[in-house]
Amino acid sequence: MQQHVAILGAGPVGLDAALACADAGWPFTVYEAADTTAAHVRAWGHVRLFTPWDLNVSRRMRAHLPSAPTGDDCPTGTDLATQLLGPVASLPAFEGRIRYSTRVAAIARTGLLKHEEIGTDTRAAAPFTLLLDTPGGEATAEADLVLDCTGTYSHPNTLGPGGIPAPGERALADHITHTLPDTEDPDRWAGTVLLVGAGKSAQTAARDLATLPGTRIEWAVRKPTPDWGAVPDDTLPGRQHLVDTSQAFADGVNDRITVHTGAHVRALHPAGDRVRAILATDEGPRAVVCDHVVALTGYAGDASLYRQLQVHECYATGAPMNLSAALLGSAGGDCLTQPSAGIEALRNPEPHFFILGAKSHGRLNTFLLRTGYQQIDQFAAAYADAPTLLPAGA
Ligand SMILES: Cc1cc2nc3c(=O)[nH]c(=O)nc-3n(C[C@H](O)[C@H](O)[C@H](O)COP(=O)(O)OP(=O)(O)OC[C@H]3O[C@@H](n4cnc5c(N)ncnc54)[C@H](O)[C@@H]3O)c2cc1C
Repeated sequence: MQQHVAILGAGPVGLDAALACADAGWPFTVYEAADTTAAHVRAWGHVRLFTPWDLNVSRRMRAHLPSAPTGDDCPTGTDLATQLLGPVASLPAFEGRIRYSTRVAAIARTGLLKHEEIGTDTRAAAPFTLLLDTPGGEATAEADLVLDCTGTYSHPNTLGPGGIPAPGERALADHITHTLPDTEDPDRWAGTVLLVGAGKSAQTAARDLATLPGTRIEWAVRKPTPDWGAVPDDTLPGRQHLVDTSQAFADGVNDRITVHTGAHVRALHPAGDRVRAILATDEGPRAVVCDHVVALTGYAGDASLYRQLQVHECYATGAPMNLSAALLGSAGGDCLTQPSAGIEALRNPEPHFFILGAKSHGRLNTFLLRTGYQQIDQFAAAYADAPTLLPAGA
């Protein structure tokens, strides 16, 4: 394959994709919105992963960087970025290949509108045009194949019932934190925190905020009897510990945390410098006046990037349809044991356009780095024998 590959995002999966291109000798460019690699991972750098180094380093990364950490220790996000992803991005194979501070704003098939040339070779042969926001202003670039590895962390879900913003939420946006609290500076979180969500991010936030003596936590959890995503006989101790800690909080072991189960945010109102939240709970409405709102209700990737492409999104998860069907078919299990979906599940109606990494799972929170690295294996194998980018079977 001699055509140019555009990789969107220099997170762990984008970098692994770039290594696959380098290994295969395919020309590629990585476009990264931030001024550094792995910007999302760095944003939650204080958080310890629950997967160990051996699961977090891809086989390509290890081959190129034999000094990459090994073993059962679980790194923090900062460890992952500084000890693995930064050094990977500095490999000679990446010389001049990563364009930092370059956000991809939109992608189109050059000269073709979304509804034109449906499933034809003409569409498959047309290059892509990328609209770029660069430090010097807007620019465009062309590519023959696009891998969207832009993740989800900068697109948080909202707080209200059914996933729409709660009344008052948009006006009070400045008071709401959507990232995991860094508790290094206890004063930052002094007072009362309204924590919303029940996934691993919210569980991590509850555990960390509970260590701060000057912080009181009102934790709103939507399910009446949450199972905290417990996996029977969990082989990942870090993950099990979060589940156990959350259940202990719900059982009332810490008098600085109140867990409101069966609760959602009905409205937010300004209360001087503070926020007055109305929670709907099984026992009726409750008012909580707080100094901080920490909303950890999940993330979903930015679909606007590929709005002009022929992408069939699942109406429920937002993930590409085939992959979503495969994931939903195996839902409920441990993400560690989820079978790899395969290249056909990763394909879109838009030829040579792939959504990979955390973004590929849409609203499902089952993504692990290991899954992303398997996706790159599948992409690389599928194109290894393709001298051109004609569709399979053409
Ligand atoms: C708090 C937290 C803990 C996690 N813990 C684990 C764990 O223990 N084990 C595990 O396996 N997984 C874990 N995950 C899940 C997952 O592995 C990570 O989210 C991982 O970072 C996903 O990698 P990625 O490369 O797909 O995307 P990201 O790491 O999100 O990288 C996307 C990159 O794209 C860039 N970007 C975004 N938009 C654009 C654009 N328009 N143009 C150009 N660049 C753009 C971003 O700046 C970023 O650098 C965790 C996730 C979170 C949030």
